[in-house]
Amino acid sequence: MAKVLYETDGDFGVLQNRKIAIIGYGSQGHAHALSLKDSGADVTVGVRPGSEGWRRAESHGWTPVSPEEAVQGADVIGVFVPDHVQRAVWEAVVAPVLRPGTTVLFAHGFTIHFGQITPPGDVNVVMVAPKGPGHLVRRLYSEGAGVPALIAVHQDATGDARAVALAWAIGIGSARAGVLETSFPEETETDLFGEQAVLCGGATELVKAGFETLVEAGYQPEIAYFECLHELKLIVDLLYEGGMDWMRYSISDTAEYGDLTRGPRVIGEPSRQAMREILAEVQSGRFAREFVEENTSGRSMMKMLRERAARHQIETVGSELRAMMPFVSQAREQAEQAT
Ligand code: NAD
Ligand code: MG
Repeated sequence: MAKVLYETDGDFGVLQNRKIAIIGYGSQGHAHALSLKDSGADVTVGVRPGSEGWRRAESHGWTPVSPEEAVQGADVIGVFVPDHVQRAVWEAVVAPVLRPGTTVLFAHGFTIHFGQITPPGDVNVVMVAPKGPGHLVRRLYSEGAGVPALIAVHQDATGDARAVALAWAIGIGSARAGVLETSFPEETETDLFGEQAVLCGGATELVKAGFETLVEAGYQPEIAYFECLHELKLIVDLLYEGGMDWMRYSISDTAEYGDLTRGPRVIGEPSRQAMREILAEVQSGRFAREFVEENTSGRSMMKMLRERAARHQIETVGSELRAMMPFVSQAREQAEQAT
């Protein structure tokens, strides 16, 4: 069993005499920057002048500077730009200012694990990877709660790299929920697998397949939307609060019997085999190579798939129904204002 760390297992004070630079003010960057500042850390936000991130950082009360300026003299550099631009930002902004003992911190292990970035041996390389979207990381911190996080040390030049990562996790509220120690390979591979097979890829295809099955059979698309997408949140909330047992306690016996007998037919051996193959592609680096290649060649596949997904009937039906349920879109509006 993994040892779960909480606030009393670390010391936020480790960060208090260190100058922190956060590069990028998107989903994760804004959450870490604001919460660390609220926790009492010395944070500078580095964003590209004229960018959306710059405007947002200003509206949140920061005096942003360019990434190049932010990293000057920084003891801890948080790399919060998208994974596919990290290598370029590393070469142009981070590498030139590294001193022995500087700590570089990532929120995901992709670029280190897949060799996109090779830091010099005399710097600390750590990770604090919240297990949730940035907007929730910030919202839960503000509510006195937190999103669980993984921490990892890739290089420890100063002897206290782990303590720095744990202090950071405390500063963003994650140690209120639980912090797990991992390695860059384990975090990267499980994260990619989870988002592809279960959380994002698996969930959206499951919803879409259910919706299409009902609509093809002649049922009203609006009913199919409520049944397969809207209600999923209510079920997931129960899973989140109390596991499968609590969810099954809350649903009817009819639903529970159908769940237990039919669920394994939907996710049967073919789906499990596909999951194993997806995991193998993540582990071998094949997925990473494909994603890096897609980004260097103009993202034509990603653009095409995005546009096709946006045209799906479940999206048009859904936006009409959500327009009538402003209370549903409230969280989204708040998140859009945050970043
Ligand atoms: P994002 O796309 O939301 O934000 C990225 C920020 O970087 C933006 O402010 C953008 O303007 C800026 N940026 C983009 N290109 C830049 C460049 N060339 N130079 C300087 N700034 C640039 O990104 P994100 O989703 O917050 O991802 C950041 C890191 O966090 C990634 O490593 C990602 O894997 C990790 N992560 C994200 C989530 C999440 O919820 N989104 C969860 C866990 C880990
Ligand atoms: Mg993830």
